[in-house]
Amino acid sequence: MKQSPVQDVRRLHRRLVLRSLRDHGPQPRADLARRLGLSPTTMTKVVAQLLGEGLVTEGGVESGAAVRVGRPSTDVRLRADARHVIGVQVGAGTVRLGLCDLRARVLRGDAFAFDLAGESPERVVARIAGAAAALAGDLLLGVGVAAPGPVDPAYRRNVLSVNLGWRDVPFSDLLEGALGVPAVVDHNVRAMALAEARYGDTAGADPLLYVYVRTGVGAGVVIGGRPFRPGTHGVAELGHLRVVDKGEPCACGATGCLETVAAEPYLAAQARLALGGEPVDPLAELAEAAGEGDGRAAAVLDDLVEHLATGLAGAVNLLNPELILLGGAFDRAPGALLDRLGDAVRARSFPVLRDAVRVRRSTLGPDAGVVGGAAVALDRLFYDA
Ligand SMILES: [Zn+2]
Repeated sequence: MKQSPVQDVRRLHRRLVLRSLRDHGPQPRADLARRLGLSPTTMTKVVAQLLGEGLVTEGGVESGAAVRVGRPSTDVRLRADARHVIGVQVGAGTVRLGLCDLRARVLRGDAFAFDLAGESPERVVARIAGAAAALAGDLLLGVGVAAPGPVDPAYRRNVLSVNLGWRDVPFSDLLEGALGVPAVVDHNVRAMALAEARYGDTAGADPLLYVYVRTGVGAGVVIGGRPFRPGTHGVAELGHLRVVDKGEPCACGATGCLETVAAEPYLAAQARLALGGEPVDPLAELAEAAGEGDGRAAAVLDDLVEHLATGLAGAVNLLNPELILLGGAFDRAPGALLDRLGDAVRARSFPVLRDAVRVRRSTLGPDAGVVGGAAVALDRLFYDA
């Protein structure tokens, strides 16, 4: 529906205030007005509208907090529990869901496994809808899916998922039909990067590069506070940078890709060779064995650091990230391994850029995918709506 210019301006002001409350916390309306360059009259109107919708509170004591002494607060604050979204992470054979508030905090979760060979994407999406319906209450704004692979420009279809063997899955149509609320889908690792930038413990680091090491090596970038969606398909294929000359063939058709020497299937194969037995968490088990003096495990980690650093240094020289976060297999890797990786990345990067970049573990941990789906939904259905 076409909106009048007045409605457009009102919506813009509403967005600006909600985002400022999300990013800068509770503040008096005078501070909000100053920060956003809005007049006191405009601010009065916007705050009245948001109070009417139940999205903010003003003054008094935050509900549940202890009685405060001294001057009563005049802060406008976001009511994080006023609306909910559901974040969904689709992995290779697993789905995780979380009901999240307006700060993308997970209130309740669910998960299920599916049979990659035996269940169609439509069947899996129907199961997602069933699980989401069981989690949802009457405050649900919508659903955000973090899917493995590129999505269409309207955030409605997962165009391709190599590791799942799925093509053109219309997540939004199927979920909206089943649940009756808006649904959006985005590339899983870009969603994780967005979640870290908006809701993680990243202190405004920008650009932010998120690297997800699982079945493959995926990357997501947030630049200038916005998810980076280059070109037609909007993906950054860090995992397919060539880091080994005359290396092993990769699923993409090239050889020596980072994914062939850093993803979990490779780490699991190396752990079987070095340690014997079937690893549950190959990277953590290799790191533990190396720490206990196992030379073969240490050699595998040396190669891993070398190859990842080569790929990440390429990303540093191109994008100049302030912060690189590693998630997935790295969620449980020792801090010393991340420190080594950081040193190796800096040693291979351009002098001025190397001083700016930090390499750390994901701050959202195993929830990054679910919070990622929620972050995409919140951006598209609430804070940018
Ligand atoms: Zn490749």
